[in-house]
Amino acid sequence: MDGSDDEQSRPVLTAHPLQRIGAYALALLGEASSPEKLTPKMFGDAVDRVTEDAVTAALVRDTKSDRGFWLKSSLSFFPNSKMNHLSNAKKDKGTIEGAVRAWRTRPEEKTWPTAACVLCGRGAVGFFGKVDVPLAESDLYRNNTPRGHAGMALCWPCLCSFYALPYGCRLTGGPSTALHSWDERFMARTLSRRVERNRQFIALGRADPQGVPAREVLALQALRHHEDRLTAGVDLLVFGNNNRGQTLEIQSMEQPVAEWLRRSSRPPRRRGFPALLRAHATADRPGVVGLARNAFRSPERIAGACGRYLAARLDRGVIGDDTADLAELCFSLVIEVMRMNQNEVDEVKAAGAQVAAWLNAENSAGQLRRFNATLKEQKQMRHWLMRRNIDALLDAESGIDGPLITENQFRLLFDPEVEDAWFHRQLLLVSVVQRLHELKFNPGDRAEVAAEMATEEKDHPEDIEYMKDEA
Ligand SMILES: [Zn+2]
Repeated sequence: MDGSDDEQSRPVLTAHPLQRIGAYALALLGEASSPEKLTPKMFGDAVDRVTEDAVTAALVRDTKSDRGFWLKSSLSFFPNSKMNHLSNAKKDKGTIEGAVRAWRTRPEEKTWPTAACVLCGRGAVGFFGKVDVPLAESDLYRNNTPRGHAGMALCWPCLCSFYALPYGCRLTGGPSTALHSWDERFMARTLSRRVERNRQFIALGRADPQGVPAREVLALQALRHHEDRLTAGVDLLVFGNNNRGQTLEIQSMEQPVAEWLRRSSRPPRRRGFPALLRAHATADRPGVVGLARNAFRSPERIAGACGRYLAARLDRGVIGDDTADLAELCFSLVIEVMRMNQNEVDEVKAAGAQVAAWLNAENSAGQLRRFNATLKEQKQMRHWLMRRNIDALLDAESGIDGPLITENQFRLLFDPEVEDAWFHRQLLLVSVVQRLHELKFNPGDRAEVAAEMATEEKDHPEDIEYMKDEA
């Protein structure tokens, strides 16, 4: 085997996210753990598998048949190809099969152009466009192909990566969703799960009976199943290549929030995770969807949702174990993701500990509720703290040592010059919850206050299902 032939049967990873996903899919179809471990023999087997599945789907002819799901999905990857051409309905089996195999056969060496593959720089075997490569001619994602050009110059392994791409995507029949990261271990593990599922459904032409969760949830699931620290963020690509137009939407989750979510949803930290989901659930949307969306759009909103949830629970005058666990998760987010200054976090926590000590000495759920209510109006909170501060200083029996709140803490909470003062006030509440739980706060009037507020929320069924889905 000469050097160039070997080169044409060894996929490499390039900078193109969809090529990378396809190269991993090829590797996994060839029973290798990553593209560089694929031998020419394994590569050949993987490509054969992909071709056989394309032939099987083409012979179904009807996308509405109960074995037609892969054929229908293929319209979003390889529109107008020999696999799903409209005229196939009138053609006989042998003609369709021959045409699909010819389309998926490596071009003869004598026809190869003297051009380099635009993705990996090795020798190209031809020029390829929209029929073979999703988004090849998209304005959104030009792939170095000038308009009016014959297509992208590609080597055989890069082209085959695009043929295998569907195995690495979540297929919907319409636009597909794929997860991408520059963290190779994450890619290998996440795609191994995806390819394992898809290879059966693609071969059978059936849709995944698990249905289609919200696209952002796909990222959360993958993070939850990943055992190692992430070394890069995660991108969610939603794309379509069909005749009505090429679309591509990219959402990115930065490494710190992705790593925080991964750790939060796994032992030993996951104790607070069910409460984190509850904090994001609404009547018509499971928490896992809200959480995943916030993680992509703005991690600060996760802290906001935690704060609102804790405040609502405090109105019952009770500190549950789940609220304390959520408070802990919330602080880890603030430090690891939002990168809040550690001194400021310590100051807010110190003030929270003093407020908690005062409330604990009062032993009253009603007082806790009154303090909680001040969060809505900063003037009230300010007044509440000033008032208790004076009482504490004057009364040696107040149950707390020293001032309730220091000048510096006051500044962090209320100074208009402090940009995040509102956020510090929310964190004050979170730290009060955490400290009261440590103090085993169990107020005498708790039954009375809880009865007034008796509205127990239920977990969203999809969130229960999500937590059950163990790695
Ligand atoms: Zn290439």
